[in-house]
Amino acid sequence: MIHRPEMPARHGASGSGESDGPFDPDRPAPDRPAPDRPAPDRPAPDRPAPDRPAPDRPAPDRPAPDRPAPDRPAPIELDPARLDRLTQRLAEVRARIAGAARAAGRDPDHLTLIAVSKTYPPQDVVMMHTLGVRHFAENREQEAGPKVSLVTRLIGGERSVPAKGTGDGLSSGATGSDDPIWHFVGQLQRNKARSVLRWADWVQSVDRVSLVPVLSRLAMERGRPLSICLQVSLDLPGASDGKIGASIAGSRRGGIDPAGLSALADLVEEAPGLALRGVMAVAPRRGQPRPAFARLREVAERLKVGHPQATVISAGMSGDLEDAVAEGATHLRIGTALFGERPGVP
Ligand SMILES: *Cc1c(COP(=O)(O)O)cnc(C)c1O
Repeated sequence: MIHRPEMPARHGASGSGESDGPFDPDRPAPDRPAPDRPAPDRPAPDRPAPDRPAPDRPAPDRPAPDRPAPDRPAPIELDPARLDRLTQRLAEVRARIAGAARAAGRDPDHLTLIAVSKTYPPQDVVMMHTLGVRHFAENREQEAGPKVSLVTRLIGGERSVPAKGTGDGLSSGATGSDDPIWHFVGQLQRNKARSVLRWADWVQSVDRVSLVPVLSRLAMERGRPLSICLQVSLDLPGASDGKIGASIAGSRRGGIDPAGLSALADLVEEAPGLALRGVMAVAPRRGQPRPAFARLREVAERLKVGHPQATVISAGMSGDLEDAVAEGATHLRIGTALFGERPGVP
């Protein structure tokens, strides 16, 4: 049996059955599509998965004709050697996390492992899911959208905008707490927000005020709340050489200056459809991660004074998870230690 230290009780804010809560209020989404018609910008649900063969599947498991077909694909081929490797890597990562927790006098069950699956194929996600991992993160919308759709089909779950009245988890047996929970951790542009909200349960990279009304409106439109972490910059003031490193790597680390955090948090808190969960950060490229994570912890403590529900500290990657755990991280975003080195890191 697989031990699942990283699986927390599913929080209401990321659940899919919450649409009658603060979500259904008296404001009808006027432009929401009729339940049986796909939203115009939603990928057509009946598009065949690239690897879907077999129209000659045996009849018994075919759904009754009067039900919307869940359109299950044929079972996916999972490479046994890859599964062995991932099993081993996952065990190693869990052992590291448990060790770091023990060293810090913390309960490993209070730590959530997020598998950062960017650049890795959907099959890897399915295998990690089989091994008990429930949280996954992506950082590019173009890559994530199709991947999440495929993973959802392969696992047999449902995703995207729940049609009214079908979110009971009964039709496919897959809207329960075993569904993957998807986190967006990349730089978010406003014009990509709509696509991201088709699949993301969390956006961890909110680092500016202008994103808030956009995310709020889209979360209300889809009828499912969005969990938010505010991304905090851990660069020290005057760390201007960071820009050079960043442009070489092709991406900024991003994040709001801690001084602006409180105002941003207030905005998120007031925005309908958004659930403020905490902070996220990436250690600076230069210097030791531990003092940076210590600063993050202070920032998070201060935030909690005014926002007691903002308990998440998302910090720690493959190379620095021990430091993050030592400084109070609750959510660890692990990519290469789970999946292997990425070819040509984006
Ligand atoms: C890629 C990525 C990670 C995971 O990094 P690894 O070093 O591969 O573990 C974590 N957080 C963010 C924001 C990322 O983009």
